[in-house]
Amino acid sequence: MIDYHVHTSLCNHATGTMEQYVRTAVAKGLSGICFLDHLTLQEAGRANAMSPQEVPMYVEAVRRLARQYRGRISIRVGLEVDFSPHHVDRCIEIINTVDLDVVGSSVHFIDGEDVVSRRSAWSRGELSPDAVYTKYLGVLDSMLDYDYFDVVCHLDLPKKFNRRPSPSAAQGFRELLEKIREKNLVVELNTSGFHYPVRETFPSPELLGRCARLRVPVVVGSDAHAPESVGRDFDRARDLLDAAGYRHLTGFSHRQREAVLL
Ligand SMILES: [Zn+2]
Ligand SMILES: [Zn+2]
Repeated sequence: MIDYHVHTSLCNHATGTMEQYVRTAVAKGLSGICFLDHLTLQEAGRANAMSPQEVPMYVEAVRRLARQYRGRISIRVGLEVDFSPHHVDRCIEIINTVDLDVVGSSVHFIDGEDVVSRRSAWSRGELSPDAVYTKYLGVLDSMLDYDYFDVVCHLDLPKKFNRRPSPSAAQGFRELLEKIREKNLVVELNTSGFHYPVRETFPSPELLGRCARLRVPVVVGSDAHAPESVGRDFDRARDLLDAAGYRHLTGFSHRQREAVLL
């Protein structure tokens, strides 16, 4: 398997060197690793992401490692872009200046606040789940109107603190999956959720089953912010993918898709 979501210390909230992440991937027997570090232009999130000026250097550093490890493991590079309608044009400009393998897109910010930060009002239980999910689904829906990315990262992220969607919000996710299929996008199965209060993947096994029925391709990502988290819980991800009926995963090279054996 390939871990399609790994961060680096460039985002200022991850530890270890890039090479340590690669060594963990090799030690765990992964066939590949893809760095997908944050590109966040929203004021509130800039400190937790690399600066736009660092993007070319980041890509070159990963490419150098890829050459160094050729024959041992495949190493790819992408960005996890934080969607914001106010910054999307600038993000596209930045993406177009570099040769990336894959672009993921995420929603972490609602009304300018990182809702999944431990310091957020949502984390402290001060916001109504209905209000948060309605806004989140609205932002996600407008993200899906753009074409700059290949992968939808951690689809149902607001459940992180174990505040689950109401039946109408759950229906909202199902409807968005239809749009994801129409747009021929890939969904990420993100295993980091096992280590948050929600204790399950993003998306949920139920939504993953729907992805499979809609034939939406998937990648698997650990969302590692420390070298030891690379490939974490991929055995559990494999069981979920098996149960959902997936026989292979998707990979990316220079933004072109390729099949990856499960
Ligand atoms: Zn992060
Ligand atoms: Zn994320």
